[in-house]
Amino acid sequence: MRDLGSGSVSRRRELLAVSYVWIGRCFAARRQVVTILRAITVTPGKGGSARLEEVPEPSPSDGAVLVHTLALGVCGTDREIVSGCYGTAPHGEARLILGHESFGRVVAAPPDSGLAPGDLVVGIVRRPDPVPCAACAAGEWDMCRNGRYTERGIKARHGYRSERFRVEPDFVVKIDPALKDLGVLLEPASILAKAWEQTGRIGHRSRSWRPQTLLVTGAGPIGLLAAMMGVERGLDVHVCDRHEGGTKPALVGELGGTYHPEPVADLIAHLAPDVIMECTAAPALIRDILGRTAPTGIVCLTGVSHSGHVLDVDVSRINRTLVLDNQVVFGTVNANRRHYELAADALAHADRKWLAGLITRRVPLEHWSEALEHSPDDVKVVVEFPQI
Ligand SMILES: [Zn+2]
Repeated sequence: MRDLGSGSVSRRRELLAVSYVWIGRCFAARRQVVTILRAITVTPGKGGSARLEEVPEPSPSDGAVLVHTLALGVCGTDREIVSGCYGTAPHGEARLILGHESFGRVVAAPPDSGLAPGDLVVGIVRRPDPVPCAACAAGEWDMCRNGRYTERGIKARHGYRSERFRVEPDFVVKIDPALKDLGVLLEPASILAKAWEQTGRIGHRSRSWRPQTLLVTGAGPIGLLAAMMGVERGLDVHVCDRHEGGTKPALVGELGGTYHPEPVADLIAHLAPDVIMECTAAPALIRDILGRTAPTGIVCLTGVSHSGHVLDVDVSRINRTLVLDNQVVFGTVNANRRHYELAADALAHADRKWLAGLITRRVPLEHWSEALEHSPDDVKVVVEFPQI
């Protein structure tokens, strides 16, 4: 890999290499085209090591579907990997190609894959563990029991943040072409498709379950997509966040929801939500929502907190209300293929103007490092790749 620096504007180049192959007692020379791509890479565990560099064309062993990258979403997980807190390089390699929120156009695909050149697609992030555990064997790698799964751009597999990537046909999902580059929202939407599926399955433990009120905590991309899917389910949607102005209140209003900048503890007392989608991972906020739903209410935790926050919590109160009101608190992470397909359907039926408002910054590949800087009014930041 050759470092191009964060501000490089060099174009993709094709280099002609000559390799010499020993065949029996003779040398035979043959010409081989080695394509060099640009990719954003990092040395996991080493903060400040991210850079744009040249990498070879992805190996066919990565998958039979070749995709030209059009855009990639940036999220908190990417920032954690870049800061050195998270991420693992593939076995035997020092660096990891970043990127798990993919979006691209198919360049080549096997005839029996259901894909054709020109299709807009997104690659699935997680791969089942090699054992596999019972969940992975059933295609539910998002529920992996032994933790030996791998993830593109996060855990032991190169990500999608290069100019072209390869992916296995079973791990690529087609996007409604009318969505165009809004397809980059599919991966985060898949997280919420799973969260809502699981919430529904828990809710229907009672034949009388008819949720009416949803509270979403956090108006980032995950929170706003949770709210969008709540509106699609006909719920009275409320979103709580710290920002009093800017993009986020406007997006909630355009959705038909109600935005609340006040502390959740004040809000929840009179709201009595049937469902809470917690999308901040803020420890004090989580403390304030546990045991605070309406009877039979469900709290879905989607964020990942750092350990080490010790708070005073009245566990007796939480236990008492959870038991006496049949409340449920559960966590959810990642998504399997079914969830990606549910999310693709949800995006296809959503208001495209509203979805476009979620992408608050678009950064060209040459300025990729700016995409990793977080601005308070950012919702979703996208790195755009050169078109072909
Ligand atoms: Zn597994």
